[in-house]
Amino acid sequence: MSVAPNVGAARLRSDFKLLIGGELVDGEEALEVINPATGAVFARCPAAGKAQLDHAVTAARRASPAWGCTSFEARAAAITQMAAALRNHQDTLAELLTREQGKPIGQSRDEIGRAASQSEGMANIRIPVERLLEDAERRIELHYRPLGVVGIITPWNAPINLAAGPLVSALYTGNAVVLKPSPYTPLCTLKLGEILRDLFPAGVVNIVAGGDELGQWMTEHPGIDKISFTGSVATGKKVMASAAGTLKRVTLELGGNDPAIVLDDVDPKVVAPKLFFASFVNSGQVCMAIKRIYAHERIYAALCDALAEEARKARIGDGLDPQTQYGPIQNKMQYERVLGILADTKRSGARIIAGGELPSRPGYFFPPTIVADIDEHSRLVREEQFGPIVPVLKFRDVDDAVRRANDTRYGLAGSVWSHDPERAAAIAARLEVGTAWVNQHRATSATVPFGGAKESGIGRQYSVLGLKENMEPQVLSVLKQAM
Ligand code: NAD
Repeated sequence: MSVAPNVGAARLRSDFKLLIGGELVDGEEALEVINPATGAVFARCPAAGKAQLDHAVTAARRASPAWGCTSFEARAAAITQMAAALRNHQDTLAELLTREQGKPIGQSRDEIGRAASQSEGMANIRIPVERLLEDAERRIELHYRPLGVVGIITPWNAPINLAAGPLVSALYTGNAVVLKPSPYTPLCTLKLGEILRDLFPAGVVNIVAGGDELGQWMTEHPGIDKISFTGSVATGKKVMASAAGTLKRVTLELGGNDPAIVLDDVDPKVVAPKLFFASFVNSGQVCMAIKRIYAHERIYAALCDALAEEARKARIGDGLDPQTQYGPIQNKMQYERVLGILADTKRSGARIIAGGELPSRPGYFFPPTIVADIDEHSRLVREEQFGPIVPVLKFRDVDDAVRRANDTRYGLAGSVWSHDPERAAAIAARLEVGTAWVNQHRATSATVPFGGAKESGIGRQYSVLGLKENMEPQVLSVLKQAM
């Protein structure tokens, strides 16, 4: 779990604005945003105080009845415009995203393009009234009504994508929204607010930046009906406890410690680049990145060599350089956490077969690091590292691999890799996870539910399942009898 940067008491000028009740406004406070490729402050950001959160919630409550009465078609049209606007602003948003988050510029562009296409995909899903029973005497239908006001809280690893998913989900189902980005990466989300201001009626979308305490106020706020939270397990538990006070609905998209099980029949040279990318993309700061690789003993050495080769080829640098494939860790606290895991790994006597030596340059750079022959009980295997260091563990027996893969409180996703996809599918189905992939990892879509089993979350995003989490089922039961 990260701790937010300090929110300054001074009212500092900023090029960025909060979106409250259709107005772009300064914050009562301000916070500084650091470029992780330099370690230096590059922008100031407005931070909402408690009164501004109250204004945002009041504006959302006022706007929600009329918005909730619009048709799915009308809301889909607004979301289609939102997707087009994201594409129109793709270059400027991508540059800002790379500056505040650190990821390579091409991946920032992809993130924004993906937010646009996922938004369109969700707005194509229909949620019809369900006819549960109809006979001569009675008709029973199941309707889905908007909840009212949805509070959305996002993390720093994919700020636009992880905002767009819950935002569109809530808006399309007829809710008004108050959205709070991570204090580490608030800027793109505030720019998104400027873009959305003209596309939705005043008060339907409100965007307030601020520190962790702002998130806590949201979870306690009696004017918010549901919290859609993406972040760490530790914070997710606090959100759930705090939301209990007003019996808010919650969707929690939390951390993962995804296993990849690599069977004895793969070609290590073919599978290694795919495993590497799924482990190290965004420098490992992906909830559903591969975080543990279990390789069969027959291919273990060859796979370790092929993964180490990939690590040595990786180009690390400032994300604004188009040659960069892997950017820095996003913030100092997370960088120090990953350093702590590296130190623990070295102390344990595990073999570091690539990376592990820090470059001497400013910024939070950490090379892709592959670790072999590591103890199953080490921090690197037990914890969610959320950074560019991955263990490769050996197994002989598939049942043992499945048992070890499942021996965790996390349950976000996992994958099995084999020359024989059906053999792998039978094993993948035994993983205690929300998504089990075969010969791939990280594939998601707007029409497929995504979310965690066990402590990786509660509920689902995307698909009909995810949309319905922003709605209250209502039974309409009609007795066909004149009175
Ligand atoms: P975090 O839990 O520290 O913070 C997430 C958000 O919660 C931030 O906006 C923060 O300001 C806010 N917050 C902090 N304390 C709060 C409180 N008491 N009440 C309400 N809000 C509070 O997480 P992070 O470090 O920003 O993100 C990394 C974590 O997010 C990783 O564990 C990662 O796996 C997880 N994640 C999960 C998914 C998913 O879909 N399952 C996606 C991306 C990231």
